[in-house]
Amino acid sequence: MDIKDGFIGTVGNTPLIRLNSFSEETGCEILGKAEFLNPGGSVKDRAALYIIQDAEEKGLLKPGGTVVEGTAGNTGIGLAHICNAKGYKCLIIIPDTQSQEKIDLLRTLGAEVRPVPAVPYKDPNNYVKLSGRVAQEMDNAIWANQFDNLANRNAHYETTGPEIWEQTGGKIDGWVAATGTGGTYAGVALFLKEKNPDIKCIVADPMGSGLYSYVKTGEISPQGNSVTEGIGNSRITANMEGVPIDDAIQVDDHEAIRVIYQLLSQDGLFMGGSVGINVGAAVALAKEMGPGHTIVTVLCDGGARYQSRLYNQEWLSAKGLLPQQ
Ligand code: PMP
Repeated sequence: MDIKDGFIGTVGNTPLIRLNSFSEETGCEILGKAEFLNPGGSVKDRAALYIIQDAEEKGLLKPGGTVVEGTAGNTGIGLAHICNAKGYKCLIIIPDTQSQEKIDLLRTLGAEVRPVPAVPYKDPNNYVKLSGRVAQEMDNAIWANQFDNLANRNAHYETTGPEIWEQTGGKIDGWVAATGTGGTYAGVALFLKEKNPDIKCIVADPMGSGLYSYVKTGEISPQGNSVTEGIGNSRITANMEGVPIDDAIQVDDHEAIRVIYQLLSQDGLFMGGSVGINVGAAVALAKEMGPGHTIVTVLCDGGARYQSRLYNQEWLSAKGLLPQQ
């Protein structure tokens, strides 16, 4: 018998997929951890589950309680699903610049969604900070606080990292991933370095994010911008503090789009934009390391969430990002 225990029991244990076209091109094994196969559809199901379990274990969240977060993306989706599965309420605070599609989806999943004016992080009414205050003022509520809550990276230290180690039989030369909160990169890097310090751990960074310059020069100085969602940062989160980083690779949107269209047409994988940055960086690392190496990255979520943008020719054309046929 091999039966999963509900939604919660289905989170994690995702396959590791050989990306054939990119592996053949580079002579390396380019492997993608299939996080889009989590039951909520993204890598964030793991963090959402660990954040909620950690709050339960600490006695901060009791039956009927509310999970509050400031997020427009996959974390909100993961939290909403897990709240349903565990009988909690979910309150999501998002900037009012977010698409109606995202608001509708979160509401369909049962979350209460509160759009608030979009103001910079330094403003006390920024949606992330506001979500922390709202949680504090409610009874039996927690603030998920994904950027600075270490339960996030712990999910990946305890599950994603060991799964990758086992699935490759320990034969892995490089780990590369873009960071939003940094939970995925950090948890896996911490685990793999303990197993074998020679594994190269590389941050992939989109344009407009400050981590590439931070790794290269010690200063956070973002350049340019990116249409990718859920990745890039201009600060070092608690999840990224004290985490090994051997190098950083910057990938622009042209390359990310080329990669996701190749994944679709040659590998049969319909992926989101951050996967373009991840696999683009894995290919760059493969070229740097030379043939014969095994490089693992993350397939964070699927392409359906981005159909009106990354898979819409008119939208891409307006951005000057149409892939070459
Ligand atoms: N890709 C996508 C599509 C995401 O939503 C996220 C989460 N923000 C990431 C990558 C990065 O994950 P993490 O927060 O663990 O760094």
